[in-house]
Amino acid sequence: MKLLIATTNPGKIAEYQALFADLNLNVVGLRDQAIDFEVEETGTTFEENARLKARAYAEASGILTLADDSGLCVDALGGAPGVFSARYAEGDRARIERLLTELRDIPDDQRAARFVCVIALAEPGGETTTFEGTCEGRIAWQPRGTHGFGFDPVFLFPDHGQTMAELPMSIKNQISHRARATAKARRWLLAYLSRSQVCE
Ligand code: IMP
Repeated sequence: MKLLIATTNPGKIAEYQALFADLNLNVVGLRDQAIDFEVEETGTTFEENARLKARAYAEASGILTLADDSGLCVDALGGAPGVFSARYAEGDRARIERLLTELRDIPDDQRAARFVCVIALAEPGGETTTFEGTCEGRIAWQPRGTHGFGFDPVFLFPDHGQTMAELPMSIKNQISHRARATAKARRWLLAYLSRSQVCE
């Protein structure tokens, strides 16, 4: 069975191919299906955006479709940048600079933040099911570490004294918001596959 990943990013497709390698799925991207329209992320929550994308591409392709949306929510900023994480500034460096500037007067005990990821799985002509994963931490005072991307260098695990960017990718892939949402989606996919085999 095919699973369409609602992205044109080859890195993201490869990541999901690896994550679902042992499932009986042919994981493809939008380009493989010659789909070239974009779905605007007009939702106000990660869930809404993930649903919007998964639904639109499932209907266009007729294939079971996975879409995700993720970002960083900072308590002292009322949950910002949230769904606007990718649009917060131009490029990772500028985003981190803006975040540290906005938090320059915020003390340690008020710098709590979390990464959130929502995965939506849409059946063509059917239901959409969503799965959320979160990862709790605190915003550091300066960037540290070279792994990962986005806000990883300023996302601190206070108990370990390390930022997400200081952790090897293999560890990030066990504890991240995306890993947690993916683990839930995986369980749903396993059940879906066994149901479809019974129906064949
Ligand atoms: P998207 O879900 O791929 O659109 O990601 C939205 C934005 O959230 C990214 O551009 C990053 O700025 C931020 N983000 C999401 N996940 C992570 C992560 O695992 N590490 C660091 N930043 C992240």
